Amino acid sequence: MSRRIALLVVIFVLATGSVWAQVAAPAARAAMPAASDNPLLQEWKTPFQVPPYDVIKPEHFLPAIREGIAQNRKDVDAIVNNPQPPTFQNTIEALENTGELLSKVQGAFGGLTSAETNAQLQAVNREATPLLSTLRDEIRLNDKLFARIKAVYDKRATLKLTAIQSKLVEEVYKGYVRAGANLDAAKKEQLKKINAELSMLTLKFGDNQLHDTNAYRLVIDKQDDLKGLPPSVVATAADAAQAAKLAGKWVFTLQAPSIWPFLQYSENRDLRRQIITAYTSRGDHNDEWDNKKILSRMAALRVERAQLMGYKTYADYVLEENMAKTPQGVYNLLNQLWTPARAVALREAADLQAMMDKEPGGQKLEAGDWRYYTEKVRKVRFDVDEQMLRPYFKLDNVVQGAFAVANKLYGITFTKLSNVPVYNPEVTAYEVKDVNGEHLAVFLTDYHPRPGKRTGAWTGRLRGSYVHDGKAVRPIVTNVCNFTRSAGDEPALLTLEEVNTLFHEFGHALAGFLGKVPYSTLGGFPRDFVEVPSQIMENWSLEPEVLKLYAKHYKTGEPIPAALVDKIEKSAQFNQGFITVEYLAAAILDMDWHTLATTAEQDANAFEKASMDKIKLLPQIPPRYRSPYYTHVFSGGYSSGYYAYIWSEVYDKDAFQAFKEKGNLFDPATAKAFRRVLEQGGTVDAMTAYKAFRGKDASVEPLLKARGLK
Ligand SMILES: [Zn+2]
Repeated sequence: MSRRIALLVVIFVLATGSVWAQVAAPAARAAMPAASDNPLLQEWKTPFQVPPYDVIKPEHFLPAIREGIAQNRKDVDAIVNNPQPPTFQNTIEALENTGELLSKVQGAFGGLTSAETNAQLQAVNREATPLLSTLRDEIRLNDKLFARIKAVYDKRATLKLTAIQSKLVEEVYKGYVRAGANLDAAKKEQLKKINAELSMLTLKFGDNQLHDTNAYRLVIDKQDDLKGLPPSVVATAADAAQAAKLAGKWVFTLQAPSIWPFLQYSENRDLRRQIITAYTSRGDHNDEWDNKKILSRMAALRVERAQLMGYKTYADYVLEENMAKTPQGVYNLLNQLWTPARAVALREAADLQAMMDKEPGGQKLEAGDWRYYTEKVRKVRFDVDEQMLRPYFKLDNVVQGAFAVANKLYGITFTKLSNVPVYNPEVTAYEVKDVNGEHLAVFLTDYHPRPGKRTGAWTGRLRGSYVHDGKAVRPIVTNVCNFTRSAGDEPALLTLEEVNTLFHEFGHALAGFLGKVPYSTLGGFPRDFVEVPSQIMENWSLEPEVLKLYAKHYKTGEPIPAALVDKIEKSAQFNQGFITVEYLAAAILDMDWHTLATTAEQDANAFEKASMDKIKLLPQIPPRYRSPYYTHVFSGGYSSGYYAYIWSEVYDKDAFQAFKEKGNLFDPATAKAFRRVLEQGGTVDAMTAYKAFRGKDASVEPLLKARGLK
């Protein structure tokens, strides 16, 4: 099942992992302000030193953050002013050990601001953010500190370092260089100007996109225009109308829960055309919210920054840090997938046209028709309906299913904790233990929407894992989602997509439980590998053998019928041509923008058209994001990185294939080898780690098969 690339846009929150915190991680800190009644500044005597949420109040954060910043500054000063010549221990490792209090406070704070925020916490956040970014600039652009780091880096070959220590020296040095530490004073000034303009344009781009998304609404006042829409969709539209003081009418918007069902089910072709046109023309109205000039300027500034640092293009600068390494590496994969995906999409278009031809009017398939006729074909071909599945996906059962898979693979166990203070009564805490009973992590699950929680689903950490004074500090990991709540007498019953999401986030969490990396800086995976540990878990979720473990009817306890499992499997590949093509088109568009080597202004629409003409994109399939509303790359963190989802998928499908080849989804030797990949985290190059697991690089074949592209 991989029909959910869109959902993979998951924020992997490292609560302690702002850029500077990756440099400045936990450390020895004996002296705390003794006379403080601020619980954040006292020793945490809670089980496993979880944040004492039962006594923390919003007003405790700002003073604790200020104190953390002051201590962090002192830690760094001590390194800079050390009269001894720079060594690995007194510079690189010492830097790794700075800012323990700040990390701890930020971990507790991040847990709340993402999942349990309020006006008071938001105000604290607004006040804290500039303080933290000042500290980051101070550390990153500290010439004396960099001179010490460089001194260690330059003589690293003679220092008899372990492999992990060498890797740490290299990563720390590289982090500073990539932030501009090696530039002369004039270029540093130029860089600061570029960064400042870019951050302003980034904000403006996002604001414009939000404006144009919210500015549009489709108001329906005739019952007749609701034909085909499911009752729940109509009811939601009536509520939206009520809220907009248009009682008695129906309002549809460009938000996902509104536009997509409308396009799937509305029988009114003109209205479908209207709403999809509104969607695809956001940021492209030649008005004050137009994004075309902004994004062209951003692309130019990114080129300028990359070239300042000695790279040909922005993509070269970004990709050096990823598995793909070079733009060519990315294009090779995207092009390899493009041809078969486009061929399947053309076949799908023919199927949809055949369905249209059965209706009078002789109409030709358009963008606004695709989803509508896809639903019609789906019903005829697979006779599968989401509502038939949900009774088998009781939330508690699905959670136990994920735990069972982890247990069968790695022998780890989960024990509910009742003595841990949590930030909301809906949060459940578990202790995760290794097969030998050793403590691995605390795991907090928080599955339902509430006001104060961000949308989407993510994995966070209230505390990272590292080694301190030879002693392992183990993490506190969260899974936060927005799943369907229980209704009436029914318990919470998940949709198929929610089941996938649960396994996905649980996969990120597993990487956290199993990671055994001594330095926080080396804890993470590159952007194009980070979705492998999560996406691989999705492969298990719908295997018939695994469904038997957990998919039991919430009333009768009966296992899900084989015929239903069969339908799920068969329909999994449906519409993959469309899904893959709209994704790949956007990924290619991202790469084309970021492999520009010129700072000349571009006509954004002409540029996009040339880019899409080059790959012969089907006219009925717009790229998933057109340039003027491509927030992933112009106001998110995905510039020349949107390809990463499918790059990771090549690896997760290939890794799962390793289990299949053994004829055992839980093959112990394969599980042990994969666990090694998770344990090592960023201490070894991702490609090296993968080859050690698989014996060779990943093949794209398993992905092509899973998506029905071969
Ligand atoms: Zn993810």
